[in-house]
Amino acid sequence: MTISFETLQEKTASGEIDTVLVCFPDMQGRLLGKRFHAGHFVDGGYDETHCCNYLLATDMKMATPDGYASTSWEKGYGDYVMKPDLGTLRLMPWLEGTAMVLCDILDHHTHEEVPHAPRSILKRQLRRLEAMGFEAMMATELEFFLFARSYDEIRKSGFRDLEPISGYNEDYHITQTTREEHVMRPIRNHLWNAGIPIENSKGEAETGQEELNIKYAPAMDTGDYHTIAKHAIKDISHAMGHAASFLPKWHQDKVGSSSHVHQSLWKDGSPAFYDKEDELGMSGLMKSYMAGLLKYAPDFTYFLAPYVNSYKRFQVGTFAPTRIIWSVDNRTAGFRLCGAGTKAVRVECRVGGSDINPYLAMAVQIAAGIAGIEEGLTLQPAFSGDAYQGQDGMIPSDLRDARSALLGSDMLRKALADDVVDHYARAAEVELEDFARVVTDYEIARGFEMA
Ligand code: ADP
Repeated sequence: MTISFETLQEKTASGEIDTVLVCFPDMQGRLLGKRFHAGHFVDGGYDETHCCNYLLATDMKMATPDGYASTSWEKGYGDYVMKPDLGTLRLMPWLEGTAMVLCDILDHHTHEEVPHAPRSILKRQLRRLEAMGFEAMMATELEFFLFARSYDEIRKSGFRDLEPISGYNEDYHITQTTREEHVMRPIRNHLWNAGIPIENSKGEAETGQEELNIKYAPAMDTGDYHTIAKHAIKDISHAMGHAASFLPKWHQDKVGSSSHVHQSLWKDGSPAFYDKEDELGMSGLMKSYMAGLLKYAPDFTYFLAPYVNSYKRFQVGTFAPTRIIWSVDNRTAGFRLCGAGTKAVRVECRVGGSDINPYLAMAVQIAAGIAGIEEGLTLQPAFSGDAYQGQDGMIPSDLRDARSALLGSDMLRKALADDVVDHYARAAEVELEDFARVVTDYEIARGFEMA
């Protein structure tokens, strides 16, 4: 549960809380913001604070690339308003005396929501669903690797000292995951005490790979849960002397990390994707929504795989999909029907990597689903068998292709607005430009003598 503002006032007065992290999720899905003294926050700081507007036009390394319409050196990199959403106030039990709040990002002058801020993008799609009478109930899974050594030690080794915390594939293993409990137990418990409904953690299908599952919730809460959980996983791993990595593919011989997105629409508190008369329990609404996901998957792939590395994950026989098809409880397809024939019937998108920004990944899939409903699309029969066999309906193979599909997407231009699509297409281009300039280990090893 979140806490009320009055509870924060009481805990501040008693000295139990002295720090409030005032944060927002950036384009990369990280928490950025400031650490407030709790006394100042409850005295008036809760109203609003400010941040430099380059923070929503930067890359992983906080560069200031040109080419964004929203801000630039020429425009002087002014301020945005960070407006705390007091409904997100919660304790951060893994940090002493600390609470946190998430902010919406507003224009400094008009106080309108900044359209390319991740929470604004999701809100816009949720408002469209609300107008249709629906609520999106979503869950995102978090897969990641734990490493034996700390971030600092690994960085000092030039990212070569990458020894996973375990020595074998630990998929569903209890023996090995017991040895990781000094990290995973505080992750589950601290997040639970922060009001995040943790379901479970489990070993995943690679050495040192873990998965954390959080109970499905209204989509905005799911975005917040994912973002805070990812942050906590890094914080707690670091405190234990380990590194946790959400890089989707850290080694070509290892399985990658994904972030599957489970989706269902509800109406008046009941699952609108369920029809007990249907063979698989799928309502007509669900079929059209899924048909929209399939039709527009190339358009939105960028938001499920936003970096050069993200595309290295899509390899045959690794549980990461390669094709845009759907199937019933089949982990080789891009879209998997889960909970068939029950009220929990839902679609799981398996395309996204562990580097997704959850707000963006959910927003663009809701937009595609709405398009499917509005266009009255028909869902093709489910695929069965090994989806890795076959060459049709491939997921865009690299960031360049995904960016082109994004730029050319009339559906996303209509749903998100032109300036938002152009903003993120520029973000993709920045990644491509940066990578194009770098000489990699691969090129040197391949060509140093042999070229
Ligand atoms: P998996 O085998 O992929 O791990 P799980 O049964 O553990 O699947 O469920 C994965 C996620 O699906 C969980 O986070 C769960 O809360 C979520 N989920 C369950 N029911 C629904 C639903 N109706 N809509 C969206 N997500 C749901």
